Amino acid sequence: MTNSHEKMIIIGAGAAGFTAAIYAARANLSPVVLAGLQPGGQLTITTDVENYPGFAEVVQGPWLMQEMQQQSENVGTRVIYDIATSIETDTHPMRVKLDGGDTMTADTIVIATGAQARWLGLESENTFNGRGVSACATCDGFFYKERDVLVVGGGNTAVEEALYLSNLCKSVTLIHRRDSLRAEQILQERLFKQPNVSIEWNYNITEILGDDTGVTAVSLKSTTDDSEKQISAHGVFVAIGHDPATKPFQDILDLDNEGYILVKSGTTLTSQTGVFAAGDCVDKIYRQAVTAAGMGCMAALDAEKYLASLDD
Ligand code: NAP
Repeated sequence: MTNSHEKMIIIGAGAAGFTAAIYAARANLSPVVLAGLQPGGQLTITTDVENYPGFAEVVQGPWLMQEMQQQSENVGTRVIYDIATSIETDTHPMRVKLDGGDTMTADTIVIATGAQARWLGLESENTFNGRGVSACATCDGFFYKERDVLVVGGGNTAVEEALYLSNLCKSVTLIHRRDSLRAEQILQERLFKQPNVSIEWNYNITEILGDDTGVTAVSLKSTTDDSEKQISAHGVFVAIGHDPATKPFQDILDLDNEGYILVKSGTTLTSQTGVFAAGDCVDKIYRQAVTAAGMGCMAALDAEKYLASLDD
């Protein structure tokens, strides 16, 4: 039954959403998590997780998310497997429309819909995803210690990923489709100073090659002439941007020019009273499970304070 009224509806079932749910449930707010059809967020498409605090040994991303969900349910969260298609914030209580046709009402809404990494769209990229292809150097770089890796892209993320990897890996080659980077100048200067970093200007990756051990090389095609070449590598880090999952809220909430939800500095308060936002749909800088979880906690506490102010 989803035509119900709730104190708190949390849209999104990743690290931010489930952490908000754990805190809200323990504060007696009986939260409902709208989990979409594939709950768990970006951690469900990673394998080994070594940087989420609290686990001495490597854990698996999908397992970690199942535990977060179970933990939230154990303390009183209800999880509904439906998609929020729109919210209405000018009514009291607010309304959340679901893909299944139902409408729920809520006193507070927490948006934790996350973001998706952009991919090159190659079939071989799918084949080697998690076996040499990654979209997160902070998450997976450690597995390529003392090896040769590639980073694709020319923005801040690509340069930061390349810098991070240059401290771990034997060599880093940045592959960019143009002859200049769009990353901030200071980052570029830092990158150019790294002795183990080289740049392949004006190239696109056309195929990722490998075998049972994972990635071994990539094929490149020039963007300025017909030349092609192969370079060997064990890891390919795709850093060509992220898309925040904020479309249903674009006419309701203030977003930045890339679609990330704007929040009041140091809080999770959005431009609409009673609506809070947390995790990768807000944050384009840190993008870690632990930072998303931290913001989820903040959103639940901010929402709780808001509800208490309504009671006053
Ligand atoms: P971005 O700035 O949009 O850069 C994406 C890069 O990937 C561009 O260089 C683009 O090439 C390239 N690209 C896009 N599609 C491609 C494709 N299909 N094949 C090959 N290359 C492709 O994305 P971002 O670096 O993730 O940054 C996103 C936002 O977050 C930016 O506002 C950035 O400033 C911000 N950010 C800030 C920090 C920080 O302040 N420390 C850190 C990370 C991100 P072209 O250049 O040719 O378009």
